[in-house]
Amino acid sequence: MTTRPGQVIANADPGAILAARADEVRAAIARVVAGGCFVLGPEVEAFEREFGAWLGAPFCVAVGNGTDALEFALRATGIRPGDGVVAPANTASATIAAIVASGAQPILCDVDPATMCLSPERLTDLLASPRGASARAVVPVHLYGHPCAMAAIDAAVRARGLVLVEDCAQAHGAVAGGRPAGAWGQAAAFSFYPTKNLAALGDGGAVVTRDRDVAERVRGLRQYGWRERHVSADPGGRNSRLDEIQAAILRVRLRYLDAENRRRRALAERYFRALEGVRCPPRPEGADQAVFHQFTIRISNRDALVARLAEQQVVAQTLYPVPVHRQPAFHACAPAEAGALATCEQACAEVVNLPVHPALADGDVDWVATQVLAWVREGGPGREPR
Ligand SMILES: *Cc1c(COP(=O)(O)O)cnc(C)c1O
Repeated sequence: MTTRPGQVIANADPGAILAARADEVRAAIARVVAGGCFVLGPEVEAFEREFGAWLGAPFCVAVGNGTDALEFALRATGIRPGDGVVAPANTASATIAAIVASGAQPILCDVDPATMCLSPERLTDLLASPRGASARAVVPVHLYGHPCAMAAIDAAVRARGLVLVEDCAQAHGAVAGGRPAGAWGQAAAFSFYPTKNLAALGDGGAVVTRDRDVAERVRGLRQYGWRERHVSADPGGRNSRLDEIQAAILRVRLRYLDAENRRRRALAERYFRALEGVRCPPRPEGADQAVFHQFTIRISNRDALVARLAEQQVVAQTLYPVPVHRQPAFHACAPAEAGALATCEQACAEVVNLPVHPALADGDVDWVATQVLAWVREGGPGREPR
């Protein structure tokens, strides 16, 4: 067996990406230290302006993390305890945790077999069925940075007068049907967790919206439910603020985001060309653009491939290995009807996320692709799992 001399190829490498911007990041931190204001100050305001402008969103409200952003987006768009909120089952458990935190009931919907994102057809069927009768909102997740089929999803949501809130935690800069991911719904939630395409040195998140009232409500929710200072008006409020150091760092990182997304696309293109015969993600073009938060192939017997790659110093992940309705916290969301989430379940059993972050060299991706192909050609997918 040949091993590649040198470093482990990480699945995500926030430290390496940051190292390339170390001087600017240090200067941003020094500016905050000298300024003496540390939470919800001028850096946060500037970041909200700049990120909103970058997305073409009139309002942006920064919060403590992406889970809170999604919960607050649901509350601020009028979702009330007991309302149904539709989401896919093959997502970060954070998507469902946020729905539950808003007091709503998750209603899980199956996905498209090619994109692994919410299927407009399955959504339409679900909304017309008894299981979908209590739905008040729909949360499409632009999973792995792949844009959902938003025109069709939006039409299904509008036909029933529901609320649309996009989970954009993996999709900063993706384009769906000619519009930025995050520009379709009444509101959208972003995360700036250190491995996301736009990342802080800790936790962070934001809600973007075209609706001034929604933005004002989120501003209240992130700070004890205040509408005016020291007077709590909204009982759902708590503390979920972004701090000035994270905002200053995010402003630096935002300037490089388009270039880093282009780099992710170029690395994905290398995988597409190299991985002939392997089931790759769809290659969006034209009015759709992916930002390859992950490059997710589908493999039967995938645990054996992940183990083989680990031996070759390559860290592959299996996001997400367990569909949410099979997780103890969310058993109550499991649909009674067997097979209702069959495509989600199959996706969770087959996905392998190959390294695709912007700190990778072309040669890293070529090495990973060579290892995957070698394993496939040796008959790896057909072998019994160890
Ligand atoms: C990361 C993520 C979240 C949650 O964001 P946090 O900042 O970790 O709270 C929500 N949804 C998806 C799809 C994510 O990938």
